[in-house]
Amino acid sequence: MTTILWFRSDLRLDDHRAVHSAAARGDAVLPVYVWSPEDEGRWPMGAAGRWWLHHSLESLDESLRARGSRLVLRRGRAADELMRIAEECDAVRLVCSRRLDPHGAKSDAALKRLLAQRGIEVECFNTSLLHEPSALRTKSGRPYQVFTPFWRALEASLDLGKPLSAPRRIAAPKRWPPSMRLADLALLPKFGWAGGIANVWSPGERGAGRRLEAFLHRALGGYDIARDRPDEEGSSRLSPHLRFGEISPQRVYRAVIDREAARGRNGLSRGAYAFLRELAWREFAHHLLHHFPHTPEKPLRTNFARFPWRRSGSDLCAWQRGRTGYPYVDAGMRQLWATGWMHNRVRMAVASFLVKHLLIDWRRGAEWFWDTLVDADLANNTLGWQWCAGCGADAAPYFRIFNPIAQGRKFDPHGAYVRQWVPELTDLPDRWIHEPWAAPPEVLDAAGVVPGQTYPRRVVEHLRGRERALAAFARIRNGGRE
Ligand SMILES: Cc1cc2nc3c(=O)[nH]c(=O)nc-3n(C[C@H](O)[C@H](O)[C@H](O)COP(=O)(O)OP(=O)(O)OC[C@H]3O[C@@H](n4cnc5c(N)ncnc54)[C@H](O)[C@@H]3O)c2cc1C
Repeated sequence: MTTILWFRSDLRLDDHRAVHSAAARGDAVLPVYVWSPEDEGRWPMGAAGRWWLHHSLESLDESLRARGSRLVLRRGRAADELMRIAEECDAVRLVCSRRLDPHGAKSDAALKRLLAQRGIEVECFNTSLLHEPSALRTKSGRPYQVFTPFWRALEASLDLGKPLSAPRRIAAPKRWPPSMRLADLALLPKFGWAGGIANVWSPGERGAGRRLEAFLHRALGGYDIARDRPDEEGSSRLSPHLRFGEISPQRVYRAVIDREAARGRNGLSRGAYAFLRELAWREFAHHLLHHFPHTPEKPLRTNFARFPWRRSGSDLCAWQRGRTGYPYVDAGMRQLWATGWMHNRVRMAVASFLVKHLLIDWRRGAEWFWDTLVDADLANNTLGWQWCAGCGADAAPYFRIFNPIAQGRKFDPHGAYVRQWVPELTDLPDRWIHEPWAAPPEVLDAAGVVPGQTYPRRVVEHLRGRERALAAFARIRNGGRE
């Protein structure tokens, strides 16, 4: 008897109910990954995500081999490949993680029916969230759209249980079906742009565990304050590991609670509480995507459907390349390009800059993030962009427009973040680092900065951008009347 263990966005063995269920019976287990971008509808994985996936699959295969097993790789429509594999190895059962996003949930249901017709039993588990999106509801039975009550309800309903350890052995089938080589999935970029990403990240379960340990040890206590500072390493940087399911949110949550208990704390420290609250934003994002499946493409607040966005290829390109003339924004966009990640504070500032100062549709920003972030996640990305644009759940009101200079001064007070990513401004004194255009000519000279040559001039002047954004917003607020 063989059970197919189908891996998806859950590339780990630890605390994984499908892995546990497959291994527990003692029957032969066939671990499979199917690379099927055509199954992903409008959001096939972006380039940075594919780089991560390649390395994460490599790591998963190593872990399986250490347990007497291995990962079978296929390419094509998941339903076709799984049916083929089921025939090749006479499988009677398939276990996997459940997809909780709308597109995935629909195709899961179809696949389940198909396999059932062939007499294959299918069991799917929620391995990626702390909560069940369909279960949490407001008192009036509706999905949550405001974070704080959602967080309260989530906290009250949490039942963490004991995390499941990775099995020591996984029984191999008598005969292995054919597998592609990882390189043949062609996930890695053809041109070598991923060197900066490789320097910063260690994809895979082991890398995730190390990242968690380092964070607990180094930064958890001060997280509530340091998480706002892009010039420090104050946040966990677990996002890509969570995105690819290399660590379970339960494992992370429990590790925080255990850590606090080990320090003899009665109740949680501010840092720990703030961190768990942030993890709950991830839950909230998935809750919203589950209940409002149209939101990656359409604003939750319907009046934004007629927002008068500008189309400007040159402004969009300046933003993407980190050449807007605003050092804090440019630093963020260059960090993203170089490392596949950007600090949350800076994500908010660059997103606000795109949708407000440049009046460019939030969907163009979400697409760019989708392609360049190693943690690109449909639920979190949609929530983040709609929040910044003012058109989503619990969103910042549109008229609150981040000032990129004030944001820089507040969260990067000595300009260390800007100097790291915009080296052409390194020699400017702190006083001018966030607004080089205002520096006296002799200061620019001494720092070797030539506006428009060594560093771009501003694509739009701050107050002009702000007024233009407010005027555009007034048009939708007044029902289209000027
Ligand atoms: C415009 C925009 C786009 C974003 N796109 C993504 C995305 O595609 N993928 C993604 O994982 N996050 C996204 N975020 C949320 C957030 O910026 C990242 O999760 C965070 O920066 C990851 O860094 P960290 O792991 O150090 O976070 P930590 O501060 O250590 O937080 C721990 C974990 O909580 C979750 N989390 C934290 N903040 C948020 C948040 N605001 N919303 C949802 N989950 C959160 C993440 O899984 C994160 O790893 C976006 C935010 C904005 C403003």
